[in-house]
Amino acid sequence: MKQIYLDNASTTPLKKEVLDAMMPYLTNEFGNPSSLYDLGQTASDVVQESRDELASLIGAKSSEIYFTSGGSESDNWAIKGFAEKHACEGKHMITSAIEHHAVLHTFKHLEKLGFEVTYLPVDSQGLVSVDDLADAIRDDTILVSIMLANNEIGTIEPIAELASVAKERGVAFHTDAVQAFGHIPIDVNELGVDMLSASAHKLGGPKGVGLLYIRRSIKLENLIDGGQQERGRRATTENVAGIVGFAKAAELAWSEMGEERARLIELRDHAIRRILAEIPHSKLNGSWQSRLANNINFSFEFIEGEGMLLQLAARGICVSSGSACTSGSLDPSHVLLAIGLPHEIAHGSLRVTLGEDTTLEDIDFTVDSLKKILELLRSMSPLYEDFKRGNYASIIEGYKNDGMTNVN
Ligand SMILES: *Cc1c(COP(=O)(O)O)cnc(C)c1O
Repeated sequence: MKQIYLDNASTTPLKKEVLDAMMPYLTNEFGNPSSLYDLGQTASDVVQESRDELASLIGAKSSEIYFTSGGSESDNWAIKGFAEKHACEGKHMITSAIEHHAVLHTFKHLEKLGFEVTYLPVDSQGLVSVDDLADAIRDDTILVSIMLANNEIGTIEPIAELASVAKERGVAFHTDAVQAFGHIPIDVNELGVDMLSASAHKLGGPKGVGLLYIRRSIKLENLIDGGQQERGRRATTENVAGIVGFAKAAELAWSEMGEERARLIELRDHAIRRILAEIPHSKLNGSWQSRLANNINFSFEFIEGEGMLLQLAARGICVSSGSACTSGSLDPSHVLLAIGLPHEIAHGSLRVTLGEDTTLEDIDFTVDSLKKILELLRSMSPLYEDFKRGNYASIIEGYKNDGMTNVN
């Protein structure tokens, strides 16, 4: 059976050119960049070239790029390192309700240590309001952390506007750009951010390597103490092959970005239009305009996301569900609840994220499969039975005027 991978927000396949670029550093060129002989210097040089490449892609200086083990470490370092360093100036920080757990759980940890955190709400499309941020900033606010693009619903936040509000008030700004990096143009100065997290495996690079951009003027404590790697700010022997792969993946992503985005938007919108036209009681979650090119997130009424997921998996289609049942929790995703979805329809959600290998045939096969699966699951759903008999009011019908909902 053919496998159709549509879970690229979770991770992406390693690109062939990336593996080729990494291979020498996994084999013959195995030196430690801290060693002074040639083998070490070759490794040290290639780490520096990779740093230069990544810095230039996002308009940063090379000396502002620090390699880490991935997005989660970058988020932890930015937030914990900044909080520890600046606790004497204030103990209040601001984030949004829809952040990745790498950010949310980091703030939860800091709350236990005596910091105070404001979680900004989002609107029905998942957007943070600039006015809400302005109102939330206090004299003792030291840091704002808001993601560039959401990993579940693909909403792209107005980071330049949000960061400029923080800057006016002298508050540092971090953005988790893990889901956006390599997918939309990013320039740290145009965005006006002080720190930015990225991770290689979300753009065709290897797992276990990421970066934290730290603007020169920003001071933070180390997260990983030890040797003098990363200019004394992050210890552990460099993941040389990973770093080379990260730079190669980013170089490819930036050079293909314009064309690839246009192609994905066409596929995405084709899928969205087909679903809205052909699958009754379906609703697109998030924003249609301010949305990552590869993200589709739908709620389907009267059924559970898990059921759809398993039926799709049986047809070789890999997608993700908006409920967290698989991870042992019965709560629906915090992101879907934050955009105001009632539990009933948040549970029936599906995230489909396209990638470089995705074709029109894959999309049509997936939508065709989804239609059949939903008919089957609804035919077995007591809720659907009740609805047909007029004993259950449709929730999705309440959204009928948003242009992103099929209530037929
Ligand atoms: C995947 C992801 C992370 C975590 O990145 P890792 O490299 O897997 O640790 C953090 N934030 C967002 C928005 C993500 O999508």
